[in-house]
Amino acid sequence: MRGLVDGDRTSPGPPYTNPRSVARRRFGGKVFRVAVDAGFSCPVRDGTRATAGCLFCSIDGFRPPASRPKLALSEQVRRALPGLRRRYPAATGYLVYLQPYTSTHGPPERLAAALAEARRCPGTLGIVVGTRPDALPDVVLDLLAATARETYLQVELGVQSTDDATLRAMRRGHTWAQARRAIALLKARGLHVGAHMILGTPWEPAPSQIAGARRLSAAGIDAVKLHHLQVLRGSALASLRHPALWSLPSWRTYAQLAADFLEQLDARVVVERLCAVAPRRMLLAPRWGVRETIVRAEICRILRKRGSRQGTACRPTHGPRMGVLKTKESQQ
Ligand code: SF4
Repeated sequence: MRGLVDGDRTSPGPPYTNPRSVARRRFGGKVFRVAVDAGFSCPVRDGTRATAGCLFCSIDGFRPPASRPKLALSEQVRRALPGLRRRYPAATGYLVYLQPYTSTHGPPERLAAALAEARRCPGTLGIVVGTRPDALPDVVLDLLAATARETYLQVELGVQSTDDATLRAMRRGHTWAQARRAIALLKARGLHVGAHMILGTPWEPAPSQIAGARRLSAAGIDAVKLHHLQVLRGSALASLRHPALWSLPSWRTYAQLAADFLEQLDARVVVERLCAVAPRRMLLAPRWGVRETIVRAEICRILRKRGSRQGTACRPTHGPRMGVLKTKESQQ
């Protein structure tokens, strides 16, 4: 994926590496994702490591609309496709996205079956597997690598922060070192790795959040999804009454933060999401009252006004990115 995006630096498109141009080159056109619930659990919810879950998590907040855990994966895809095809009429194909909970947690046979079923879905161009950095034992890594030899496969890791104090505050149950190691292990097997990141948390100073882009770049990620901290109905966060949580950054402040983050992010990293706003029925704070497209446009406007773009302030990294664990930046 990385070698495909160099041309974006000079294109008149957005001032960041967007997934559309990458998809065009990789798949020959637009692709969309079909999110499915393959019936996995989560180690910080099911008692394996904890039961309370992450502070910000409201599982209903990201459960795919077409999700029917009792339905076979292929049936979920079959039911979701007509609507998605209407929404993305020009798309070349789709990726099956194992989204909710932790899709590598549990018996490896279950994952193997889910991957095999996803591969058999007619018209699928590949698979995206959402998981946590601490749920990737060798047997799972080998399974993912074997699947990636047969089809496109991306692993999306919930990294969320590169600051251990913030990870503790969010009750993630893993450290940045564990996330960095997971990225290295996945990259060592030739897998594409995406990272989910939350910006605008009250636990980490802005400069450290921005520096997270350099740490992720040095760790070797291929893609990133950004969003801001949101207080969702049903989350543990919603029951906290700390004033900082109810005066989260405005959308303009978030846009500044995201622009700063992008400047520090390696230009080869695909930015798959710049902003995500939860549905109003789920969202307690912050209530920005603007659409994601407005926030995205503001981030682009800030970068253009500065005459910069993704990677402008990122130290270039050279050579194969498998050895990045040895770099100073990645050891932070
Ligand atoms: S965010 Fe993911 S890892 Fe955290 S509790 Fe929710 S499902 Fe589990």
